[in-house]
Amino acid sequence: MPKSKVSLDVTQVENFIFDMSRCIKCKGCTWVDHIYMPGVKYSTRCPSATKYLFDSYGAYGKMRIGLALVEGRLDYSDELLKILYACTLCGACDVGCKRNLDLEIELTLEALRIKAVKDGKGPMPEHKKIAQKIMKQHNFFGSPHENRRKWLPKEIKPSPKADVLYFVGCSASYIHPEIAQATAKILDASGTPFMLLPDEWCCGNMLYSVGMIDEARKLAKRNIDAVRKTGAKTLLTSCAEGYRMWKVDYPKILNMSTADLGFKVVHLTEYVDELIKKGALKLANKINLRLTYHDPCSLSRLSEPWVPWKGERGLWGVVNPPLERRRGTNGIYQPPRDTLNSIPGVELVEMPRMRENAFCCGAGRGTKEAFPEFASWAAEQRLVEAKEVSAEAIVSACPWCKDNFAKAASNNGGSLKVLDFSELVLSSIGSTGKRR
Ligand code: SF4
Ligand code: SF4
Repeated sequence: MPKSKVSLDVTQVENFIFDMSRCIKCKGCTWVDHIYMPGVKYSTRCPSATKYLFDSYGAYGKMRIGLALVEGRLDYSDELLKILYACTLCGACDVGCKRNLDLEIELTLEALRIKAVKDGKGPMPEHKKIAQKIMKQHNFFGSPHENRRKWLPKEIKPSPKADVLYFVGCSASYIHPEIAQATAKILDASGTPFMLLPDEWCCGNMLYSVGMIDEARKLAKRNIDAVRKTGAKTLLTSCAEGYRMWKVDYPKILNMSTADLGFKVVHLTEYVDELIKKGALKLANKINLRLTYHDPCSLSRLSEPWVPWKGERGLWGVVNPPLERRRGTNGIYQPPRDTLNSIPGVELVEMPRMRENAFCCGAGRGTKEAFPEFASWAAEQRLVEAKEVSAEAIVSACPWCKDNFAKAASNNGGSLKVLDFSELVLSSIGSTGKRR
């Protein structure tokens, strides 16, 4: 194999021809490794392939379809676009594939969507409507921009200047204010001064996820600049999607390292874990609840920091300089578990699919908007799994997960409670979150 120049730039799908062409169809991207599985019931990791059954919907199918597209052997069709977009970009396939092969599956899927938009075929019509709302009203829902801070309780006064900046995000600002309120009250109770962005805009997660790279880049530059101007040292999110966008995808699309952002990106689960371990926050109130924790994809396997890489690929596909692969193992797994375990009365039970092997809730990356029935189905699968371990509640750490689970739970009329991490922590420090 002659040496070829290659990089991890997702805007050039040609960078991933090797990855697409070397898929051996072993289906490690679909099955959860047998050593982790007590049985066959929860043995699949790919929502798309599990729901739609045909091989074309699995990562192995998408690799072949992508290669044929790039080589001009296949043209776009409605079904092909459905295959590209009825996929939660959850990263479960990437983790599975990298147990055996160093193929960049997640990046290839992202690059294929960028290509679809460049070719004038993507994204889906529903995505285009949301993109308009983001561009005009600076939020996902098209709600009035001036209402963005309506969630803020009167008794909480953000500082004009602080080391910690709370980036609230669209979902917690408009749809799930209880998560933003709980987060602010937790910070207040721990004596952490925090500020808000003077004019917060959407993070643009969906724009990037559906392949609208130019729009996403514009927003990334604007948002990073706005945070840098505040002088914040830490950007804190209570949203997993926003966390991944700030920590991984902004650097990725701006060709920089996470370390060069100029501030640290931290999720509430990490921050609370630290506060508890240094004695700044006490979870004293008893909550008698048997609960299970759902790892949001964007906080777990998709959250490892980004470092740009370019080099050469030579014999046997070996790359030079060496490339440290992002395998999902260094995501945020333990901090939320340690916190939940430290709440008196809480019994934390694990679902069969957990950590890197967790099954996506189905909400993220533009899926729910274009394929609502698929998104509800994925959430229902997860709720069944939670009931299997006799959990009374499913807890996540992202407003998008909560939203999707809550809707699926109410459709089923079941008794499973759906909660966000922030709400449980707040309940355990006292419902008002007053400083102790
Ligand atoms: S695990 Fe990787 S090599 Fe195997 S079928 Fe899936 S994408 Fe292809
Ligand atoms: S990203 Fe998730 S839904 Fe999409 S192919 Fe991979 S495992 Fe399946």
